[in-house]
Amino acid sequence: MAGCVFCEIIAGVTPASVVYRDDLVIAFMDIRPLVEGHLLVVPNQHISGLADIPPSVGAGMFSIGQRMASALRHSGLPCAGINFFLADGEAAGQTVFHAHLHVIPRHPGDGFGLRFPPRYGHRQAQDALEHQAEKIREALSRPPAQ
Ligand SMILES: [Zn+2]
Repeated sequence: MAGCVFCEIIAGVTPASVVYRDDLVIAFMDIRPLVEGHLLVVPNQHISGLADIPPSVGAGMFSIGQRMASALRHSGLPCAGINFFLADGEAAGQTVFHAHLHVIPRHPGDGFGLRFPPRYGHRQAQDALEHQAEKIREALSRPPAQ
């Protein structure tokens, strides 16, 4: 897609440090890494959001993410753990609207982390959880929105 930096990388127009490529996905180093070794697993076809990813492509993204995680653990780069992160939508922090899975190697003191809301840690009342679960079950019973 014109103007999409990931499509340009896939087409070879924009350089990237590619570590893996197959028929479904490409994996390359994030140009603005959160930590050393941070890479992205990206579908070869332009897909903007999570809901648009075909199941076979999603499975490929996850399985290649697993392979990248294993490679990071054996790469000699600092890696005592791994986070996967996928931002779907601007409110979730998505900045490139070509779906991508972040594979982020972690080690103690790396400075990266999740910021929890102030009320985190308070156990929610069961009736409130059940109310939320009911809303989700209702959404699941409807045909998927397109
Ligand atoms: Zn794209």
